[in-house]
Amino acid sequence: MRAFLALLALLIAAPAAAEPVRVTVTREGDAFIADYRLPIDASGWGFWRSSPAASDNQSWRLKSWKVLTPGVTLERRGQQDAFVGIGGRPVPRRVRVRLTPYTGEVTSNYVPALRLGGDSIALFDGHFALFAVGRANQLDRLPAGFDPQAAKVGDYGTAIEFRGRNLRIAGDADGYRKGESAGAYGLFGVPRASVANGIATVIDSELPKWIADDLTSFTPRVMGAMTARLGPAGIGQPTVLAAWEGGDRQGASMNGGTLKGLILMRFEGQAALHELPALRSMARWFIAHESSHFWLGQAVDYESARDSWIMEGGADLLAVRTVAALDPTFDRTKVLNEALADCSKLAVKPVGTAIERGEPRANYACGAIFSLVAEKASKGDFYGFVRNLIAAGRATHTVNSDQWLTALDATASNLSLSPPIRKLIEQGSARPADDIAALLKSAGILYKVDAKGLPQL
Ligand SMILES: [Zn+2]
Repeated sequence: MRAFLALLALLIAAPAAAEPVRVTVTREGDAFIADYRLPIDASGWGFWRSSPAASDNQSWRLKSWKVLTPGVTLERRGQQDAFVGIGGRPVPRRVRVRLTPYTGEVTSNYVPALRLGGDSIALFDGHFALFAVGRANQLDRLPAGFDPQAAKVGDYGTAIEFRGRNLRIAGDADGYRKGESAGAYGLFGVPRASVANGIATVIDSELPKWIADDLTSFTPRVMGAMTARLGPAGIGQPTVLAAWEGGDRQGASMNGGTLKGLILMRFEGQAALHELPALRSMARWFIAHESSHFWLGQAVDYESARDSWIMEGGADLLAVRTVAALDPTFDRTKVLNEALADCSKLAVKPVGTAIERGEPRANYACGAIFSLVAEKASKGDFYGFVRNLIAAGRATHTVNSDQWLTALDATASNLSLSPPIRKLIEQGSARPADDIAALLKSAGILYKVDAKGLPQL
């Protein structure tokens, strides 16, 4: 009897053999039809990405999606958006939805849709992915960002297929093709894509011309400069996607996001209509930092979150060096002095636990300083240091803090540099500013101490 029960439990708990959720998304004028095929009978299907609109903290899906199939509703249940079967019955195995593109910001998540000028629209595939629950009221208790294993929800995977003319996939295009996308935008009716030096640039046809021209020429130059000094990138043809949100608001702003293989940028504001050097610098810096991750992040990745300072600090220093080499007007000390100031405050706690503690800035700031030390030890060639990290990590595609410090010891003329860095990573410091100043000194990096007692270049 016990064996029978165990077998039964196994059958219920192991739906891995089931088909994935399949959904095709087809354009219909300015709207889209999402046509779902669900693999099992379930009374609720929740959306993995259910975070609300940033503007009013309400479900953006309920505003922009309309269910066309009888017997099922789209509801907000607790922290989740979900398809729920009416009257406790299972959700029909085929559900059709008509959706208008929602282009507003979503809390801590990717923009569902972007308008790219003319009739071009980008849709994010991750917002279509579903999980199953046995009983719909299970949805009410699921917190935002729940652990799927602990919550015992049915994860069948969701295979998304965008359909339309002039369609381009930007982001995890390989995963998308295999039906296991880690995040990609389907670009419908895309405007001009310019491809050079292994990177595609897709630009909103309404983006102010000076920004469009700068992105189109600067992006391949960054990729060219990095490839020349770092070797091949760890990813196939990535895409830079730049959207214009309009010039109604005062001032100018840029916000960005990234996915594997995609650098996403959105510009807006009246001041951005005319050439604005500060905005240009910010955009160039962002592209360079994110492009660095095609090496530090894709060619070699961190082993665990404790080692993520290697990627973020390294990307910051690569970006500073690369932008400065291409743009003589770029302020090369600003970013590094901010790093020195911030790490001097944040390294009271171990840099290795920055992610757990919700202080990711420590990874960027302290990581950039450690990278600066490695650069000095490599006779000014940080690219060479990174190239060695990539080569050493070839077997596993990962690097951890120990391996990074070993690489530093192998490069440096003395072994005095790695112990103070290790201390900041593993323990933090009671007096970070003093420890960082001492580290710069023993690395032979020139600095001064400012009025606040912070080391500055
Ligand atoms: Zn980064």
